[in-house]
Amino acid sequence: MISRGSKRRAATLALFLCSGALNAATLIHAGRLIDGVSDTPKSNQTVVVDAGRITAIEPGFRNPASGDRVIDLRNGTLLPGFIDTHVHLFMEQSRRTEIERYTRNDTDLAIDAVVHANRTLLAGFTTVRDLGDWSGAALSLAKAVDAGRVPGPRIIAAGKPIGSTGGHGDPTNGWSRRLEPVGDLEDGVVDSPDAARHAVRVRYKEGARTIKIMATAGVLSLEAHSGNPQMTEAEIRAVVETAHDYELKVAAHAHGAEGIKRAVRAGVDSIEHGTFLDDEGIRLMKEHGTWLVPTLSAAKWVADMGRDPTFFPEVIRPKALEVGPQIQKTFAKVYKAGVKIMFGTDTGVSPHGSNGREFGLLVAGGMPPMQAIRAATSVPAKFLGLDDTGSVEVGKLAELAGVPGDPLVDISVMERVVFVMKDNTVYKSP
Ligand SMILES: [Zn+2]
Repeated sequence: MISRGSKRRAATLALFLCSGALNAATLIHAGRLIDGVSDTPKSNQTVVVDAGRITAIEPGFRNPASGDRVIDLRNGTLLPGFIDTHVHLFMEQSRRTEIERYTRNDTDLAIDAVVHANRTLLAGFTTVRDLGDWSGAALSLAKAVDAGRVPGPRIIAAGKPIGSTGGHGDPTNGWSRRLEPVGDLEDGVVDSPDAARHAVRVRYKEGARTIKIMATAGVLSLEAHSGNPQMTEAEIRAVVETAHDYELKVAAHAHGAEGIKRAVRAGVDSIEHGTFLDDEGIRLMKEHGTWLVPTLSAAKWVADMGRDPTFFPEVIRPKALEVGPQIQKTFAKVYKAGVKIMFGTDTGVSPHGSNGREFGLLVAGGMPPMQAIRAATSVPAKFLGLDDTGSVEVGKLAELAGVPGDPLVDISVMERVVFVMKDNTVYKSP
């Protein structure tokens, strides 16, 4: 039996808990708000988050009600969580990369991917497109993040990339014949349009949400060429037609001018790198509305590492020294020419968590800071078909990042994220 007094206290407590649960919100006091869609920032705003969604955006700093949490970003800038449209969560390039291809199991790579995903999230990236992973880790991790089992960015994963025998997409590229020298269909190694169609369907079956092809040679594979075409236009067209049947977009790794043009004519949705794009290629990209993901971070990283004569195997080093600086030059030209640009770093080449460096490299190539921010927020959200992220607007998911200072004055603050929110959880707070 309980006394009237304790009954009343219990009722009051229940009411308090109840009203607390109903009203408790996260109030973000933002000195500056860049919402990902507007041309100009707003100053001194309160963004209200309730149950993981943005419920209000008000001028001034709203006083917290009992139970509310306040995030003090009055000296900083609040932005939509960033979207990196080109990462590889399962890997991080190092001096040991070549030997680790023989010594590490897929389970090792999967555990690394969890660590890398966490670093990516803490750098302010709340969504990534994972463009190629031979371990299958990104596909599994995508599901685990969506289910709230592991912290990380939302992952739109391609699974294993599709390419041709001996090429940049062949996981046994460079191996001794005594090992297993022939990459197979399972691995995405295709040498005909029929095989290409099959490979897309296998990825669809495995849960891939996008398709990656290796249209030309690459820098970090054990092959002499960096840019020659490695798929026929008919093979690429077979990939694109099949992928589009399943509403999967196709991203084409492409360095050389001929491979880029084949991919654009065959209808891919984005060109990754675009290193040796020529004037005809630029014209074709504009005509077809093809996006360029310049991956300037990876370019800078391979160029920096290439200067160390002991870092890469000898077959890779000259390619790194040639391709790295060229990508930055090409980007400046292509941006000026009016090709559509989306933010993507190829992180996994460069270290995970440093994705934010790309902002400064885009700005160095001539892109205004506000446009670089949009290229990493509302623009890729639309491209990826993600309606509830990519901007700070009422009704959207609270997938948010905060930086100190003003990125429109000093873009390098994008590398020093102090606040991250996703899944109704504050992962980092100032
Ligand atoms: Zn890549």
